[in-house]
Amino acid sequence: MEKTIIIGSGPGGHTAAIYTARANLQPLMFEGFMAGGVAAGGQLTTTTEVENFPGFPKGIGGPELMMLMREQSVNNGCTIKTQTVDKVDLSVSGGPFKVFAGNDTYETHSLIIATGATARRMHVPNEEQLWQKGISACAVCDGGLPMFRNKPLVVIGGGDSAIEEATYLTKFASKVYLVHRRDELRASKAMQKRALENEKMEILWNTVMLDVAGEDVLTGVKLKNVKTDEEYTLEATGLFYAIGHIPNTEFLDGQLETDAQGYIVTKPGTSQTSVEGVFAAGDVQDKIYRQAITSAGSGCMAGLEAERYLAEKGIE
Ligand SMILES: Cc1cc2nc3c(=O)[nH]c(=O)nc-3n(C[C@H](O)[C@H](O)[C@H](O)COP(=O)(O)OP(=O)(O)OC[C@H]3O[C@@H](n4cnc5c(N)ncnc54)[C@H](O)[C@@H]3O)c2cc1C
Repeated sequence: MEKTIIIGSGPGGHTAAIYTARANLQPLMFEGFMAGGVAAGGQLTTTTEVENFPGFPKGIGGPELMMLMREQSVNNGCTIKTQTVDKVDLSVSGGPFKVFAGNDTYETHSLIIATGATARRMHVPNEEQLWQKGISACAVCDGGLPMFRNKPLVVIGGGDSAIEEATYLTKFASKVYLVHRRDELRASKAMQKRALENEKMEILWNTVMLDVAGEDVLTGVKLKNVKTDEEYTLEATGLFYAIGHIPNTEFLDGQLETDAQGYIVTKPGTSQTSVEGVFAAGDVQDKIYRQAITSAGSGCMAGLEAERYLAEKGIE
């Protein structure tokens, strides 16, 4: 019987691991094996430079940052299994809970879920070759990189977050094209107004992206106007997807309360889920900030709350 099991190995999971390990809870982490299409270590393993995580004034490579977090978890006493959790049994509120991975079943008094969310991408033919070489799914993370400054950029999407990301990019870009497949945006009226009034932004209506162009770095995007069938290549050094994220909550099989998009619902200001003894941290419960530092912050909350929960139950 474990005291606490952590599912997920991004900044949220590792911060929870460091806190619970330091509280002598001997946490067991399932770091996943390409779960949600992402390697162990989470979304930051798919990026190059991370320039906004405090403590690294010159920036740090995403994979390197996650290796350091993993090392810190292990040094503090966390055991890590490179396995994906297939399902859980949360039927007894207050635990114990069952965790199923491969052929094995584990039992635990408390559970921390930090399985993240995967950014939706279009997977056009040349995308893999140019991923992170001009293509990104996070404007706040990558928009300020030198390669995007004073250059034309493209954002795919039409909701509030697409406009937010496109507006953010206008601070750096020479021009931002918002590519949208319909003739009206899904975004709120206020956000639409913001987009339409921004001189650096142009909305390409009724337009879909067919592919990306470039050898070593992105040089343009191939577009098609679905009304006129016209196909053309638009010059751009940056392409940002803003078509939503998929929270990795399928393995829960509806046993925790989630919102309409599948994000775990936590009690405001806490990491507590709808089942007592189960806590959630990071992007799997956050569709607003989605940053490494906010994930780490909520991982700290989950770790501390799990510790207090176990102490109240007399499980030391
Ligand atoms: C390209 C890119 C660049 C980014 N750049 C920055 C940046 O510069 N700065 C910044 O602050 N943020 C950045 N972000 C956002 C940041 O990566 C995320 O906010 C952060 O990683 C979320 O952390 P997390 O702990 O919630 O989970 P994630 O990082 O999403 O990690 C979750 C992990 O859990 C695993 N997992 C999922 N399901 C299971 C399961 N069933 N069993 C076991 N394991 C499972 C996944 O495989 C994954 O490894 C970037 C994101 C992307 C995609």
